[in-house]
Amino acid sequence: MSPMVDAGEAPREECAVFAIYGHPEAAAHAALGLHALQHRGQEAAGIVTFDGRQFHAHRATGLVGDIFGNPRVIAALPGHAAIGHTRYSTTGASMLRNVQPLYAEMGFGGLAIAHNGNLTNARMLRRWLVEEGAIFQSTTDTEVIVHLVARSRLRGPVERLVDALRIVEGAFSLVALFDDAVVAARDPWGVRPLVLGRLGEAWIVASETCAFDIIGAECVRDVEPGEVVVIDREGVRSLRPFLPRPPRFCIFEYVYFARPDSIVEGRGVYEVRKRIGMELAREAPAEADLVVPVPDSGVPAAIGYAQQSGLPFELGIIRNHYVGRTFIEPSDHIRHLGVRLKHNADRRTLGGRRVVLVDDSIVRGTTSTKIVAMVRAAGAREVHMRIASPPTTHSCFYGVDTPEREKLLAARYDLEAMARIVGVDSLAFLSIDGLYRAVGEPRRDPARPRFCDACFTGDYPIRLRDHERGEPARQFSLLAEEEAS
Ligand code: AMP
Repeated sequence: MSPMVDAGEAPREECAVFAIYGHPEAAAHAALGLHALQHRGQEAAGIVTFDGRQFHAHRATGLVGDIFGNPRVIAALPGHAAIGHTRYSTTGASMLRNVQPLYAEMGFGGLAIAHNGNLTNARMLRRWLVEEGAIFQSTTDTEVIVHLVARSRLRGPVERLVDALRIVEGAFSLVALFDDAVVAARDPWGVRPLVLGRLGEAWIVASETCAFDIIGAECVRDVEPGEVVVIDREGVRSLRPFLPRPPRFCIFEYVYFARPDSIVEGRGVYEVRKRIGMELAREAPAEADLVVPVPDSGVPAAIGYAQQSGLPFELGIIRNHYVGRTFIEPSDHIRHLGVRLKHNADRRTLGGRRVVLVDDSIVRGTTSTKIVAMVRAAGAREVHMRIASPPTTHSCFYGVDTPEREKLLAARYDLEAMARIVGVDSLAFLSIDGLYRAVGEPRRDPARPRFCDACFTGDYPIRLRDHERGEPARQFSLLAEEEAS
């Protein structure tokens, strides 16, 4: 059977998950938690609840506040248990099928599932499942897990989920809701974050601790790499069903992705970003008058750079907060427009000055090129760009949306050429050892790196089975693949 194709659809896998068990207002808390996690995905969100008898779901495209800010929507989601999800993705009415949590009726009851990460053997598994007669409803890799649960020959729902998770490869930090149980699972490498918290008698699982702060919950601990946490009437229990692997948490979460007020793997993200800026100032000092961040992502590193260098920190670029992140715009044309909509350089601060401009990363180079032109147009005499991460030379296959390698500026050009293209007087990136120092390691040990840093080094810890089989290099929709073949 040839699957339906949504033209131009390209779901991306950057997401956040939230789960709560044992609270009479589970949906309202999930909505607040998802709102705090909005930075991890702004295109769609969903919540599924269980009220002791049946499941209730609401999913839509848009921002969490717009979807769940309406009390009538929350009232239609009764129950003491809920899971939720926010995602990045392109728009289009039909993409509602891809909005998570996914829900399915199984022989044992209901299963809702919400996933952050990306599976690296999903295309292979999907092809096999389709040959075996499975009928897919969405284009997400997450649905592969649902089908594997349905096919498992084990008895209990949790055992069946674990059985399915043993077959998939890649990065997953996921939450699932069964009839009266919440399950949270993290892949053995622990690539994406997942934390366990408590609010009175209720248990909570979320992508980041900022989702606990918003509802006054306390953080208990990280869900550990390879751990499966089961929460039900009996309380909380922990399973370790996978082959242990050396943990490789995503270092880019510290650079850009996580919210600065979150504690991730025991480290405060804001503090790490400031230390990144300090390392950068030590490694790449500049003769300049002021340090200016590209807001918001460059702010903590610029503060660190200013503190270390002794140069004054100034907000020479002001960001308009009422436009989404640059990356979510679907076409290059709009993306270019987006950068101008979003930032304005302040002539009174920058005019005649030698400026150290700090941003977290250069991906395609679009943002930096525009910002530098803007800073120069505002009268800056010199622009010295300092990037708070090593050059992004490789695509991510584990859940962070990056373009294919050919579009990464640092994969195409050397430092000198990049400086010319971006239009700066000097350009420097943080070294990979500097980044490791900022997260508290002495250096990167190439034999045993502590983190997943594949986007900077090309060292992919988890096998890229689909990619090895010549599948398209993006972690995009499975339908797009069918479309191409
Ligand atoms: P670019 O314009 O393609 O070079 O994008 C670089 C900018 O996008 C940086 O200022 C980052 O703050 C931001 N950025 C980096 N990685 C991502 C990502 N995976 N998703 C969204 N934004 C990103």
